[in-house]
Amino acid sequence: MSKSKLTDRFGRTVNYVRLSVTDRCDFRCVYCMAEEMTFLPRQQVLTLEEIARVAKTFVSLGTEKIRLTGGEPLVRKDILELVREIGTYGLRDFAMTTNGSQLPTMAEPLQRAGLKRLNISLDSLDPDKFASITRTGKLSQVLEGIDAARAAGFKGIKLNTVVMKGGNDHEVPDLIEFARKKNVDITFIEEMPLGEISEHDRGQALCTSDEVRDIVRQHHDLRPTPEDSGGPARYYRMSDSPIKVGFISPHSHNFCSTCNRVRVTVEGRLLLCLGNEHSVDLRRVLRGHPVTNDKLRQTIIDSMDLKPERHHFSTNGDVQILRFMNMTGG
Ligand code: SAM
Ligand code: SF4
Repeated sequence: MSKSKLTDRFGRTVNYVRLSVTDRCDFRCVYCMAEEMTFLPRQQVLTLEEIARVAKTFVSLGTEKIRLTGGEPLVRKDILELVREIGTYGLRDFAMTTNGSQLPTMAEPLQRAGLKRLNISLDSLDPDKFASITRTGKLSQVLEGIDAARAAGFKGIKLNTVVMKGGNDHEVPDLIEFARKKNVDITFIEEMPLGEISEHDRGQALCTSDEVRDIVRQHHDLRPTPEDSGGPARYYRMSDSPIKVGFISPHSHNFCSTCNRVRVTVEGRLLLCLGNEHSVDLRRVLRGHPVTNDKLRQTIIDSMDLKPERHHFSTNGDVQILRFMNMTGG
């Protein structure tokens, strides 16, 4: 049984926190950011000490899993210090989501600092396509990063692919072969309407998880498994490979009823739901009460009453949430 002290009005237990450590990034993925971005001034961003206080307080309230994200977490200076600190909190699971560009040099230090698992984003295996999706990214660097992560001995490595119809959907079979060859899990994600973008029409580009599963099934058997990583993905297995294939389907299979997570933005806004604006300003509490975490703790407990029952993403491509994913912390 969970020892979490955080339960919302709908009986859901919150024991998983995603902490954004920066809004900055070395990539500009078309579905995540505008080409020209204005990033937050430093004083609005939580310090590493403040992020650690938030993490520690959540752990004292029963949080068992923390994922560091962003923006790109590995562009935050001194990120290893934060990983080392959170690594001492005795979490069941401690993970990071990264675009992989810094992993050639950072994978091993991260593993040694106590990080247990990595999610690495990979939307294409074609260098030109990769460059056009990420705008500034270089595929070879990320592939090198994936190999460095494999060599570093993490407990788990998972690739994340946002599938866009007419964009990279034709690469699904190649991405599956790549994951099988590298012996890493892979999860396909439906694009979510976060932030206004200009490059493509999200309604038309939506490739549902059912469609992606059909593509995979043309090449492999896929059997559903009840395995659960504590996140929103549903998992499948193939009879001739040890890897798991996951699907995150905010549009086609609403995952709200089992939601066990909250997010904290790099400004210290506690977001109770990815698809709603309900939030609580933890930065004000952190800075108003610099010595003890009692007020922070009570604020987090009270905030559970604000967690909405579900999100309402529609599939017509309209933006419903004005913050970009790099602000939200994916
Ligand atoms: N920079 C890191 C990365 O790319 O992995 C971490 C942050 S990124 C915001 C986290 C994840 O969110 C990535 O896998 C990315 O593909 C995904 N993502 C970003 N914008 C999205 C959107 N509009 N819909 C669905 N997934 C999105
Ligand atoms: Fe950066 Fe990740 Fe957003 Fe791409 S998805 S722009 S890598 S934060």
